Amino acid sequence: MSDANIPPIPYLGQKSDEITIYAGPCSVESAEQFDEVAECVKGLGLHWIRGGAFKPRTNPHSFQGLGEEALKIMKDAGERYDLLTLTEVMDSAHCELVHSYVDGLQVGARNFQNFSLLKKIGQVTADSHKMVLYKRGFAGTIAEWLAACDYISDCGNDNIVLCERGIRTFETATRFTLDIAAVPVIHKQSLYPVCIDVSHPAGQRDLVPALAKAAVAAGADSLMIEVHPNPPQALSDGPQQLTPAQFETLVGELRQIADVLGKKIV
Ligand code: PEP
Ligand code: MN
Repeated sequence: MSDANIPPIPYLGQKSDEITIYAGPCSVESAEQFDEVAECVKGLGLHWIRGGAFKPRTNPHSFQGLGEEALKIMKDAGERYDLLTLTEVMDSAHCELVHSYVDGLQVGARNFQNFSLLKKIGQVTADSHKMVLYKRGFAGTIAEWLAACDYISDCGNDNIVLCERGIRTFETATRFTLDIAAVPVIHKQSLYPVCIDVSHPAGQRDLVPALAKAAVAAGADSLMIEVHPNPPQALSDGPQQLTPAQFETLVGELRQIADVLGKKIV
């Protein structure tokens, strides 16, 4: 076949020239902790800050999050620093509460197939169209992920971002195996933007920069990166969180790559 006869590469994705970073601590621990990250995020010209209020911990004796107090801290910092806020909602009973405080609602990997939660989030956000960042489950296929999006969109909100955060494989060198191919596969099959959470698959902060650069190069529409003012003291996911200084260096490197691609990091 001559080049002229090769069909164009299908690409349904929204070819935005902006790559959004959702940065922030794994857990919101205090107003001071969250402010420190907000100041860094704002100083870098980014628009969103993330933080966990209700934490899906494997062990019930681990820190479970500050709940509504964390939502208040996020809302207050979001207003003072003029940042959009993103947090996970774990329970259908919390959807209205979480929706009333933040700009984006996250479905975590552990709730990938919690269909009643997906429907409830779709209903609660139907009027506001607030972003729903829907993470892939550890053992979820891309087909299952795309199918389940309809639980949200059928209830009235198609402002969905699909977030790849690593899957379980035989490999134990990283916390999860980052499926970078999810980016082009989803762009071929769906209109939803794709986020790559680079912190949870890495599990260790020194791996985060390489995964983040790969995500930008692969065409991810957004990145999630955990940042904590003092990672060794973090109440969850300390080993994978970047310090503000490390995050600033990484954003500078990502901007260089984005530049080559004609994109902006925001
Ligand atoms: C998180 O983003 O804080 C989180 C718990 O992520 P995941 O659901 O991907 O494990
Ligand atoms: Mn985390």
